Amino acid sequence: MAAARQTNVGLTRVCPHCKATVLQSANICPGCQHHLRFNTVGKSNAEPQAAAVSAMRIEGSIQHPVRDEQCEYCVVVAISNERGEKIARHVVGVGALQPGEKHKYTFSVDLLPVRSAVERKRS
Ligand SMILES: [Zn+2]
Repeated sequence: MAAARQTNVGLTRVCPHCKATVLQSANICPGCQHHLRFNTVGKSNAEPQAAAVSAMRIEGSIQHPVRDEQCEYCVVVAISNERGEKIARHVVGVGALQPGEKHKYTFSVDLLPVRSAVERKRS
């Protein structure tokens, strides 16, 4: 590799509020939506993060098709690259649906463009 560029891209940290793994660049936790930049180190003023672009959003409601019967559910999110190799696969929620009960599920992917001149080191 020649010139190192944007070595901070994709780095993660743990949200102190909900313990989710989030991007180090995140100002707000996408899980619990608490602010995260209170412990910024080495920066006198935080640079504005590029606006997130919503790349995908799917919403749907699910109800067990059999009346008068309980059922359980399991929500799995999987990410793979273009060659089909698994990057991540997580169970994000499990639970039960009572007869007639309906749950709404939302899945979204946001893209966060990285600005090229943002991460110049100051010593
Ligand atoms: Zn959080």
